[in-house]
Amino acid sequence: MSEKKFASQADLVEKKVSFDRLSEHAYAYTAEGDPNTGVVVGDDAVMVIDTQATPVMAQDVIRRIREVTAKPIRYVTLSHYHAVRVLGASGYSPEHIIASRDTYDLIVERGEQDMKSEIERFPRLFQAVESVPGLTWPTIVFEKRMTLWLGKLRVEIMQLGRGHTKGDTVVWLPEEKILFSGDLVEYDATPYTGDAYLTDWPATLDAIAALGAAKLVPGRGASLKTPAEVKAGLEGTRAFVTEMFESVMRGAEAGLDLRSIYRSTYAALKPKFGHWVIFDHCLPFDVSRAYDEATQYRDPRIWTAQRDKELWDSLEG
Ligand SMILES: [Zn+2]
Repeated sequence: MSEKKFASQADLVEKKVSFDRLSEHAYAYTAEGDPNTGVVVGDDAVMVIDTQATPVMAQDVIRRIREVTAKPIRYVTLSHYHAVRVLGASGYSPEHIIASRDTYDLIVERGEQDMKSEIERFPRLFQAVESVPGLTWPTIVFEKRMTLWLGKLRVEIMQLGRGHTKGDTVVWLPEEKILFSGDLVEYDATPYTGDAYLTDWPATLDAIAALGAAKLVPGRGASLKTPAEVKAGLEGTRAFVTEMFESVMRGAEAGLDLRSIYRSTYAALKPKFGHWVIFDHCLPFDVSRAYDEATQYRDPRIWTAQRDKELWDSLEG
């Protein structure tokens, strides 16, 4: 393997943004595999689902929202705690920031370390990082499920199980059968599993599939606009998560060290998934967490900027 630049530090090319209307109430802000933002326009207010990484970057989302509605942006919902999705929240000046209790707990426990780690990993995605005022703190914390009415529009905010993180939250519009999945589902983009519960993730995908979504906005990648596309997104995510974890478990059972397991897993996955965005970025972190889960760590260990670099050097150096 030739030497690779750490994480996404070599990724400097801006992506093209799409702002898709999925229904009377739902929009998707996507950018060729960069983190997505969902938008729900209710009768009286707007909800944003995941914020972009900085308040300055949020301004482009707001500009698109203002092309379709003048209603106030009153709610921000966090699909999970990762900095690249939540640190733009202040840019919307929302009345409320909604998160699961598990997400809140992760922000308390590891939000600071995660912020520093992610800023180093994705410099392009933290445009105007100096505009971030600090961690994003929820103002409404729910357990398992809450229902919010934006006027007559019913919005279900749910934890369907652990997967990408323990706090994963989806937003569901039951009347229109539209789902905002966060990073539980990716499309043409590599699932990041550094903070994942790989044993649980497939069952959570089953719970998502059981909703019967007509359209789905994944965490990364284009919005999925037909049931067939939704199915493809769920199946692709499931294939990556299970094949990666199985490869690592086989290596761990054989007593191989992490570097050997990384190399064999990389070789096994590259032909099928190597064209997905951030494949090379994710795989060292993904394999490391999978190895932890397969061996001795039920819960993901905290990533710090220093641990990131040490892992990268040990696998890619
Ligand atoms: Zn994430």
